[in-house]
Amino acid sequence: MANINDNYLKLAGSYLFRETARRRAAFIEAHPEADVISLGIGDVTLPLPQACIQAMHKAVDEMASADTFRGYGPEQGYSFLVDKIIENNYKGLGIESDEVFVSEGATSDCGTIQEIFSTENPSAITDPVDPVYLDTNVMAGRTGTLQPDGRYQGVTYLACNAENNFCPELPEKPVDLIYLCCPNNPTGTTLTREQLKKWVDYALEHDSIILFDAAYNAYITEEDVPRTIFEIPEAKNCAIEFRSFSKTAGFTGTRCGYIVLPKTVTGKAADGSRQALNPLWNRRHTTKFNGTAYIIQRGAEAIFTPEGKTQVKDMIGYYMENARIIREGLSAAGVTAFGGINAPYIWLKTPDSMPSWDFFDKLLNDVHIVGTPGAGFGPCGEGYFRLTSFGNREKTIEAVDRIKNSLKF
Ligand code: PLP
Repeated sequence: MANINDNYLKLAGSYLFRETARRRAAFIEAHPEADVISLGIGDVTLPLPQACIQAMHKAVDEMASADTFRGYGPEQGYSFLVDKIIENNYKGLGIESDEVFVSEGATSDCGTIQEIFSTENPSAITDPVDPVYLDTNVMAGRTGTLQPDGRYQGVTYLACNAENNFCPELPEKPVDLIYLCCPNNPTGTTLTREQLKKWVDYALEHDSIILFDAAYNAYITEEDVPRTIFEIPEAKNCAIEFRSFSKTAGFTGTRCGYIVLPKTVTGKAADGSRQALNPLWNRRHTTKFNGTAYIIQRGAEAIFTPEGKTQVKDMIGYYMENARIIREGLSAAGVTAFGGINAPYIWLKTPDSMPSWDFFDKLLNDVHIVGTPGAGFGPCGEGYFRLTSFGNREKTIEAVDRIKNSLKF
């Protein structure tokens, strides 16, 4: 008899997007004439930058000839990409090439990083949040069961809401692993340099590790928001950063990301000795992962060429203009909204604290717009609703006009 990992049975069903799709389909079936617009899209919609396409075409051609063919590459990534990452994203911060691990994206990295930590380590996770951090902690057995209040036993939930300006309070009980996502999905909000420094100071004082998901860093516009946690002095002693080319350059289907794990970040072994985490992750990465495809890494490298940079800037500019249109439209309609300045997400407060699933139904029924109920991202998401700026410009304008002109609260 093969016994299963019972922790999987503790997981709540992946209900959110299945349920929004079900309600949308039911509405369309009942109202086939309705022009339903989705502002719930969590995926990019613009094509890859031309510079990436050209680089990938060239790499495909290299595969056709024995003298330029590539088989397995270095598991940690080709130096042509790693060097560009350091030069462009970590210049002057002292990050070395063996501290970068290229991967197939941030979701799997954020999900698997916990394997190098003991399951005895309590985690702190912001709420609301992308489900990957919590679910992988549940799978690993680092939590108890799901409680009636929607929270797992043994996890410290760091509430992020309008009351604390989406800056979580430091935990009262010490925690070992701290997941921070900045800019945040779903709230679209960020931590300033000063706010992030408090977390770094906390981690140094309590010997904890910050797992810093910076998948949306390319959307940051404000000066006082750090582009990387390693801008904060001493973060190199307590933080691991996750990056993705998905939202940066449209690689959601192409798949490429990376981890930055400085050799100065350490944890404690059972015998009390200090151990660097970098060699542990290197061991894990080289055992369980055989490298991101050469063709894809050439595509990612092209983002750092002058043409690539311009094309990426235009792409992000397009989404962020959508974000501005949504944000200002909501404000004109009297709706309180957050985010959309350093992130492609707008997080609105439902009118009169309406439950977020009721607001989903109202938006769909009254103005034929689909978004995402905040409750689906965690207990603190209740009373909020996520709209995204990844849609087409005309549809975004039309959706905002409908909210402004036809939505009655
Ligand atoms: N982290 C967060 C919070 C995300 O929302 C996403 C994508 O939606 C990612 C990471 C990026 O994931 P990936 O690189 O696997 O596409």
